[in-house]
Formats: sequence, structure tokens, C-alpha cells
Amino acid sequence: YLLVLLAASLISIILALILRLANNVEVTPPPGEKYGMVFDAGSSHTSLFIYKWPTDKQNNTGVVSQAHVCDVKGPGISSYAEDPPAAAQSLVACLDEAMAIIPSQSQREAPVYLGATAGMRLLSLENPTTSDKVLREVSKVISRYPFNFRGARIISGQEEGAYGWITINYLLESFMKYSFSGRWVRPTVSNIYGALDLGGASTQISFIPKEAVEDINEKSDFKLYGFPYSIYTHSFLCYGQNQALKQMLVKAVTGQDLKQPVNIPCYPNGYTATVPLESLYDSPCTAANAPSTSGSAQIAIVGTGDSAKCRALIKSIFNFSACSGQASCSFDGVYQPPVIGNFFAFSAFFYTFDFLNLTSGQSLSTVNTAINTFCARDWSEIQSSYPKEKADRLRDYCANGNYVLSLLLDAYKFNEDNWNSISFMKQASNTDIGWTLGYMLNLTNMIPSESVAPMKAQNY
Ligand code: AMP
Repeated sequence: YLLVLLAASLISIILALILRLANNVEVTPPPGEKYGMVFDAGSSHTSLFIYKWPTDKQNNTGVVSQAHVCDVKGPGISSYAEDPPAAAQSLVACLDEAMAIIPSQSQREAPVYLGATAGMRLLSLENPTTSDKVLREVSKVISRYPFNFRGARIISGQEEGAYGWITINYLLESFMKYSFSGRWVRPTVSNIYGALDLGGASTQISFIPKEAVEDINEKSDFKLYGFPYSIYTHSFLCYGQNQALKQMLVKAVTGQDLKQPVNIPCYPNGYTATVPLESLYDSPCTAANAPSTSGSAQIAIVGTGDSAKCRALIKSIFNFSACSGQASCSFDGVYQPPVIGNFFAFSAFFYTFDFLNLTSGQSLSTVNTAINTFCARDWSEIQSSYPKEKADRLRDYCANGNYVLSLLLDAYKFNEDNWNSISFMKQASNTDIGWTLGYMLNLTNMIPSESVAPMKAQNY
């Protein structure tokens, strides 16, 4: 019995020693990663961008990168005016994906934002109660997750333009670069890019002009890494791709005998459809032009695939006479200094030109020819050449190609000489270009306003 007792106490002493030793071992945690998320709730669709960055601070300025992007199934949240809880439900699959991607120990700290853009701006003009309800519903669903939810709101066009500009210049390290000599250096200001963003319902232009911005409504001021920046930025509501095409259709039917089929030069030859007349005026961008008796009338439309006529029709949606007598003006009487420097054109600028194989720095005349050639193709031939593309998208590439050209050349006044200053891009440093990264960097104070030199790293 004594022997058993002795053996038992020996074992417990050994066990206690092992436990103590284990507690004293210093475990150095591996350099971890932090995460943050932004929902881009656009007019035609929503995407969830998941960003990550290292927790150790010895790194350069382009430190935040895209870990993952999740495309929400279904339309943009502004399309759920009749059923706001369904807008919220549509986000669940992407939130679940984020739960699988972000390690559980990082989830509580991970900020998540939802920013809604022009689709919701339009809905809030039409029906503010409904747009509030949609935002409340999506907030309820996001709050159910362990992440650090920091709110769902409609961002202004000015913010959308400015954050897109911050995103590209952050990714390209135009603000600050960590040099080989181990110091923060500021690259020359002429390396800063302008931003051209084309959504479904609005479009933004942002750049540093040669002269100071005259109109304070079109100006955004920042102090980044100790240096002040003053940019021109304007957002045109109703001039995103889809709303611009709606305006184009309205121009095409105006003054026509609607009992006869109406020719649409921007649609491919051989394309025919019957559409409710009302559908042309169901947006605040065109409602003012609605005939008093549209009722339930249906109209027949016929594509004629005539690029020159299409370009002229599209040009007519811009009101240039509102600029007459003003030197620095784009259209609709909006002040815009002359474009200068290099630009990144992203979102639908990229999608449209990518489809047309025009993103490799082609000359303006090559671009013109390619768009004209595409517009002249027959509808049945186009459909059989791209069996995987959705029909509505395929139908719109001629119109969209001409819209991109008209917006850049007629409206913003790019020309043959500075055409090649525009790069059509989707990503920089493996991260999608858009307003979301700039928004998160700003709201989490990841870009210090004060100078980081001669410090070796930035603080988060
Ligand atoms: P938004 O939803 O406001 O961001 O608008 C995006 C615009 O780009 C809309 O006109 C969409 O139709 C268009 N778009 C989005 N994704 C694609 C894609 N993969 N290919 C072509 N066009 C796209």
C-alpha cells in the first residue's frame, strides 16, 4: 500500500513539473493579420471586399491588400424597394464567406462598413422612407455577425470620387514610398494619378488640376502623410452607364411615331424587342421627360447598328449649351478644369473596354475603329460569338463603347494627344480599384495625416 502511495505522489510531482515547464515556455505568436471589410452596394450589384494587413508595423505604405471579394447574388440593394428584408438576405452568403475566410480570433476586431452609391441616391430621391428601410434591414443582418459593424449609409458622389482617387494612389504608393535606404520618401507629385470611375447610375472624375480649384463645391482637401492635397472631384448622377443608356433611349423615342417600330442606332442590327413605354421613365433621371399619356403602351424597338448615329444620339444626352461662355466646364453647366496628368479608368470603363479588347493602350483611332466595327456586327452573329454573355449585356456593348468615348472626349475633353494618358484597369497590386479601400483606410485612420518621416513605419 505504501509503495502504491509513493508511486502516486511521484507521478503527481512529475506531472506538476511538466505543467509548470509548459507554462514557462515563451510562445512567440506568428506575425498576425488584421482584416477589414467594405460592402460596395452599387446600383446594379453589391460586392463585399475583404482586406487584410499585417499586424507588425515594419512595412511600407501599400500595406493593405485585398484578401477576397465576394459578389452578392442578385441585383443591387436599391432594387429591393418592394421587399427590403430580401436586400438584407441577399448579403448573407457573402457574410458567411467572410466568416470562413477571417480567422475566428480576428473576427471581433474586423471593421465592416456598407456604403451605398448612386442606385440608393436615386431611390432616396424617389422615396426616402424606403431607402432608409433598406439601410435599416441590411444593418440588422450585418449586426448579427461577430464583426465590428460600423454602419451602413449612402455615401455622397463627392466621397465616392475622392475615395477612388485615394485608393489608386495608395495602391501605387504615390503618396509615400518606403525607399531602399529604409526611409519614407515622397514620390514626385506629377506621379499622382487621376481617377475615372463609371458605375451603373453615376460617374466620377477626380484629379489634381494645374491651377487651384475655383469652385469649392467641386474640391476635396486632404492632408496625407503630412502633405496637403487639393483635388477636383465631381460625380454626375444619372450618367452611370445604365442611366445614360436610359437617357439615350428617351432621346431616341422622343418625337417619333410610337405606333411604328423605333430605330435604335446603338443596338445591333437585327435586334428587336417590345418594351413598356413606362420603363423608359421609371427613374428620376428620365421621369421629367415622360409623356402625359404613356399608360400601359408598349413600343417596338429595332436595332440598326449605326455607330456614327449612336455616337451623335449619345452626345445629345449632355447639355453642352449650359456651358456656353464658360472656359472650364464639362456639361450641364458643371465646372471642370482642363484634364491633366495620367488617369486610371476603372469599373465599367474597364468592363466595357475589356470586352472590346481595348485595354492595352490602343490609339484613339484604333479604339474608334474597333467600336465602329463591333457596332456593325449583326445581333445573331454577336450572340453566337459570345454564347456565355448575358443577352442584355451583349446588346449594350455598342452603346456602352460609344458612351465611354463620348463621356471621355466630348464631356471631359480628353483628346487625341492625351488619350494615352488614360489606363483602363481593374486592379493595381492585386487589389480591385474602386472607392471601398480608400473609404476603409480613411475611416480606420490608416493613412496618417501627419508626416511619417523619419519614422520607420506607420502606426495603425
Ligand atoms: P454599379 O453596380 O453601379 O457599380 O455599376 C457597374 C456597371 O458596370 C453597370 O453598368 C454594370 O452593368 C457594369 N458591369 C458590372 N460588372 C460587369 C461585367 N463583369 N461585365 C460587364 N459590365 C459589368
